[in-house]
Amino acid sequence: MKRKPFIQIYFLLIVFSLMNVQSSAAIDESNNSFKSEIVKIISSELQSLKALYINLHKTPELSSQEINTSRKMEKELKNAGFEITYGVGNYGVVGIIKNGPGKTIMVRTDMDALPITEKTGLPYKSNVRMKDSSGNDVGVMHACGHDIHMTVFTGTARVLAKLKDKWSGTLMMVAQPAEETGVGAKAMLADGLFTRFPRPDYALALHDGPIPTGTIASKPGYILANVDSVNIEVKGIGGHGAAPETTKDPIVLASQIVMALQTIVSREVPPNKKAVVTVGSIHGGTKHNIIPDRVYLKLTVRSYEKEIRKNILDSIKRISKGIGIAAGLKEKDLPVVTIMNESVSATYNDPELAEKVMNSFKKAIGKENVILAEAVTAGEDFSEYGRVEPKIPTFIYWLGAVNPEKFMEAQRSGEKLPGLHSPFWAPDYEPTIKTGILTMSSAVLDLLKK
Ligand SMILES: [Zn+2]
Ligand SMILES: [Zn+2]
Repeated sequence: MKRKPFIQIYFLLIVFSLMNVQSSAAIDESNNSFKSEIVKIISSELQSLKALYINLHKTPELSSQEINTSRKMEKELKNAGFEITYGVGNYGVVGIIKNGPGKTIMVRTDMDALPITEKTGLPYKSNVRMKDSSGNDVGVMHACGHDIHMTVFTGTARVLAKLKDKWSGTLMMVAQPAEETGVGAKAMLADGLFTRFPRPDYALALHDGPIPTGTIASKPGYILANVDSVNIEVKGIGGHGAAPETTKDPIVLASQIVMALQTIVSREVPPNKKAVVTVGSIHGGTKHNIIPDRVYLKLTVRSYEKEIRKNILDSIKRISKGIGIAAGLKEKDLPVVTIMNESVSATYNDPELAEKVMNSFKKAIGKENVILAEAVTAGEDFSEYGRVEPKIPTFIYWLGAVNPEKFMEAQRSGEKLPGLHSPFWAPDYEPTIKTGILTMSSAVLDLLKK
């Protein structure tokens, strides 16, 4: 999950306001037979899955450097009986079981960790340091819980391989690198994920989150946002701070741009649509009495609909350029707006698939534990799998990872619990893993049942 400083707040809102909301869709109670069999397998595999989680947690690797992690996923899938292809889109791993006629389901995990030094103090905390892509020595931590995802993924692979007589079709387990940098899914697709392998009829994924263990949350339609990173280079003519008339001051220009950008969401985006334009970085100048000749702005832009995304990005260009013109800059000196290619597109849960899968969840963990979420302004490159043409229905859900008592206590006291990307993020891993495997396996079995 990519950049979501405020995600925790969203989760609190979701849980507060929607804890008791239930889908009006009828629940099919006729087939509960998978649950007891899945639970039995989870119990028998639990020790080994816990050990796998601890191992993954202690040995995180940064985006596009998942050398050992990907080999572990390869080994797990191979041991579970999958036919393996290694190295799809750099460190991607694809495991396939062809089990008779029927649909093809893809289940995806991500594998990368973050450049964060862990501060949980847990006995199994990560002490790993690595070089990031700029060559800086950084602490590395699974602060987004992709270690939980991989453990649930492995458990799900084992369950579904063991219950092969219960389903018919093709199961495609995909371990994806580089989610945090937004390049992993694109790389796997570019390397033929949907052409060299069976093209999925459905793709499923989950993400751990700061809601109570034993619960999951999701929704039909948009669930995660378009994330665009934008750089603006504001040029000027530098000079002495005491003689501004001989300069074009880029600090004043940049300030005007920052203020003008605030009108995009307030004046140009319809009030019933969500969007965010945040200037997260502004850098320019060295000294009190020097007017610099450059100021650099860095923005993050969040949206859902394609047209709104395009309009916002166009407005950023128009406003920046317009302010340069108003200042009397020549064409060649106008602000340069660059949309960075680390952008991620909004994640859309196919409504029909969402209803089917959430009904499976209700049977598996009880309807009171299936929460109707609201869309958040974080991003996920799982969205890429749903953007290929012709469209593949995709679905992602939040998996509760916080001890319920701790969660309720925090609600009462107003204490802020650590969220994703925090150096203190510490999932209550055993119940989280169990619920993850139960829900994901149930969803696949219901979609592929004979
Ligand atoms: Zn993340
Ligand atoms: Zn994540």
